[in-house]
Amino acid sequence: MADWQKLLRDRSIRSLEQLVDRFGPEHFPDLHRLTQAIDNFEFRISPAMVDLIQEPGDPIWRQYVPDEAELEVIHGMMDSLNEDADSPVPNITHRYPDRALFLVSPVCASYCRFCTRRRKVGDPEKIPLSQLESAFQYLEEHEEIRDVILSGGDPLLLSDRRLNTILGRLRRIRHLEIIRIGSRVPCHLPERITPELCEILRKRHPLYINTHFNHPAELTPAAVRCLGMLADAGVPMGCQTVLLSGVNDDVEVIRELMQKLLAARTRPYYIYMCDNVAGVEHFKTTVEKGLEIVEGLRGWTSGLAVPHFVIDAPGGGGKIPLLPEYVERITDDEVVLRNYRGERYVWTQPTEPAMAAVGAREPEYDFLGLLDGKPAAQTSKNGRRNGKRAGRKSPKRGRP
Ligand code: SF4
Repeated sequence: MADWQKLLRDRSIRSLEQLVDRFGPEHFPDLHRLTQAIDNFEFRISPAMVDLIQEPGDPIWRQYVPDEAELEVIHGMMDSLNEDADSPVPNITHRYPDRALFLVSPVCASYCRFCTRRRKVGDPEKIPLSQLESAFQYLEEHEEIRDVILSGGDPLLLSDRRLNTILGRLRRIRHLEIIRIGSRVPCHLPERITPELCEILRKRHPLYINTHFNHPAELTPAAVRCLGMLADAGVPMGCQTVLLSGVNDDVEVIRELMQKLLAARTRPYYIYMCDNVAGVEHFKTTVEKGLEIVEGLRGWTSGLAVPHFVIDAPGGGGKIPLLPEYVERITDDEVVLRNYRGERYVWTQPTEPAMAAVGAREPEYDFLGLLDGKPAAQTSKNGRRNGKRAGRKSPKRGRP
């Protein structure tokens, strides 16, 4: 057994008794209800996350400690993204034209109480590793699939040998251009990111990892180190974050998280609204709060630190981007824009004659002459320079 497997086995919290021993019985007044919550969804808190909990109810606690609110189902659905409807064979979801989701692991180092796939995750019967062959065959037969996303559960909890076998088999499928891995291991179990694992990944490029961090405290020195190891192995690192009430629904918290991710060589990719999943409704925030957070990023920090803010549409509609209102008005002549400070700016639309001329006019420069090093002024064919047509009055177009 590898060191990281022993660590996960020996130092995780895996039962309510261990939870009570560690934090005290006063924080768990109704163990019967919590037992029901654990019956509904697997429970484990990995050593790194146990160590990060500072006090009951803090942002790390909320993500992993079962809560009686999980039993209060109002609008939540079991399969909120309707993934099972697009599953032609076990372990494959094929919804989009050129990419497919491949579930290769039923287990996670820590089980996030807000997990969208909680109906399956933690249950080896629902993500059966004995049935991977039909999934491979499906991927081999469907040449339109050029991008496969390994998920689960957490693919990086597979043994090196098994992961290497899966990646090798996928790499033999010629039409698969890229492999992506979704993993929360860099956050939950940084000890899993070993030099041996990095060598396995390095051989399978182009390979991307999308990890998942929700709070700046999760970027511990160990997590930052393992993100660097993966980047050194040539893996482009992205991160997705779920907006969660009481965890990160705050502009300052999210801004710090995004900045720390970038410093750890990981590009913020998505912020998701929490999905409409049964048992996770106490984590939901409003869309307005999400938009406020995105407004607090755009312009106030590097563009690289601003992820796409999306709702994964209930019922399987895919990711729908949400943007604050930066465009105030569009007419035929101009666009009125609002910048990140709330100041207005006007951008002038191209005139109709200018647009018509684009397709008709001859090139304005002798481009071969330019390549030969002649100054632009000597290569102009008609004496005009780009942009000098301005000054002609822009006719009004007919939109009311
Ligand atoms: S790591 Fe991902 S798949 Fe596993 S419980 Fe958390 S959100 Fe779900």
